[in-house]
Amino acid sequence: MKKEIPYKIYLEESELPKQWLNLRAFMKKKPAPLLNSQTLQPMTQAEMEEVFCSELARQELDDTTPYIDIPAEIRDFYKMYRPAPLVRAYCLEKALGTPAKIYYKFEGNNTSGSHKLNSAIAQAYYAKEQGLKGVTTETGAGQWGTALSMACSYFGLDCKVFMVKCSYEQKPFRREVMRTYGANVTPSPSQTTEVGRKILAEFPGTSGSLGCAISEAVEAASQLEGYRYVLGSVFNLVLLHQSIIGLETKAALDKYGVKADIVIGCAGGGSNLGGLISPFMAEQLEGKAKYQFIAVEPSSCPTLTRGKYAYDYCDTGKVCPLAKMYTLGSGFIPSASHAGGLRYHGMTTTLSELYEQGLMEARSVEQTKVFEAAEQFARVEGILPAPESAHAIRVAIDEAMKCKQTGEEKTIVFGLTGTGYFDMFSYEKFHDGKMQDYLPTDEELSASLEKLPKI
Ligand SMILES: *Cc1c(COP(=O)(O)O)cnc(C)c1O
Repeated sequence: MKKEIPYKIYLEESELPKQWLNLRAFMKKKPAPLLNSQTLQPMTQAEMEEVFCSELARQELDDTTPYIDIPAEIRDFYKMYRPAPLVRAYCLEKALGTPAKIYYKFEGNNTSGSHKLNSAIAQAYYAKEQGLKGVTTETGAGQWGTALSMACSYFGLDCKVFMVKCSYEQKPFRREVMRTYGANVTPSPSQTTEVGRKILAEFPGTSGSLGCAISEAVEAASQLEGYRYVLGSVFNLVLLHQSIIGLETKAALDKYGVKADIVIGCAGGGSNLGGLISPFMAEQLEGKAKYQFIAVEPSSCPTLTRGKYAYDYCDTGKVCPLAKMYTLGSGFIPSASHAGGLRYHGMTTTLSELYEQGLMEARSVEQTKVFEAAEQFARVEGILPAPESAHAIRVAIDEAMKCKQTGEEKTIVFGLTGTGYFDMFSYEKFHDGKMQDYLPTDEELSASLEKLPKI
């Protein structure tokens, strides 16, 4: 007999995954290696260790081990806020009048308000294990900085955050949460680094970008004894930690014999989406099942849908390794969109390669349509979504409405990456009818793509 599906499917604490899933190990054609930006040769462990924590560098370079143990200390921390619920969106289904079955995995159940904590705690743990004093990082919208500040204070590490200037000014409360955890927060670009001073000289009055904040954080780590640089997305080590999202989702669905048809996630650097799809994609790559995967990005920063698959710099200052990825060019500064967490110029190499192979689709959506979906969702589901997460809601609703027309009872699963309580200025703009949709022109994009390194 089929079990009645509850509104919320919780796993038991004992069912919390004991290993992360390394999706690259399942890919026949692997993502291209990171290259040293000086020698253009694949990055070695020794070179990686100059910037990154040793164990994290090892994870980044490992594309063959399918499962990696989650250390007990990290699992204990996870138990504080995980397993995260998988919610059957009965109320949304009813409001839409769709025969589709909609589920979402909610990652906003912790103080950082997003999935970022899943990797922050792992990265802080490995930094501590290595005996480091502290770490440096960048943050755009602020969620990663918040998560890392919390993780660092838990393990007694110092945390220096370079926060993109426009969000530093727009989101003072995010900054204060970070300071509550003892982090040191600097608006970027700043006068505290050489690369920051150079960018300020070239573009006075710039409101900053993620690519620029990354360069500053890397430089700061290299100048400080006992510090390394850590990052909240884009790299495969982050996808690895975020696989906890997908593993829990799949375990919860399996428990009730539910097979997903469509898996949807928003894509900034690609970490939550990569983590969510990991076990499903691994199954598909093994030929055991088939799914439709959809990456959703803002039309103001259309990395997959309008970018190019090529080697590019991960940061504006060109201090990070080169990655082969879908990119808009490392100098691309997207318009001031309200989904700060999705404003990165590139996409993780794993998702880029899967997209190139035609194993994943991508859609770009305009922000006014995204906020319409956010509001529709908030009114019936009891969670106020982050604008980033609402990109996934938008496409989940679109797919559910297609089912309404065709009568298909598809099972749609999407990632609800976080809450939007620090984004009320954006909601206000939307409610006041002052929100605009910015689309980069073809000329702007090709001007940026022309500057890709010739490799
Ligand atoms: C950072 C962030 C994202 C986007 O980052 P990915 O690495 O693409 O997952 C999405 N949603 C929220 C709430 C975020 O904080």
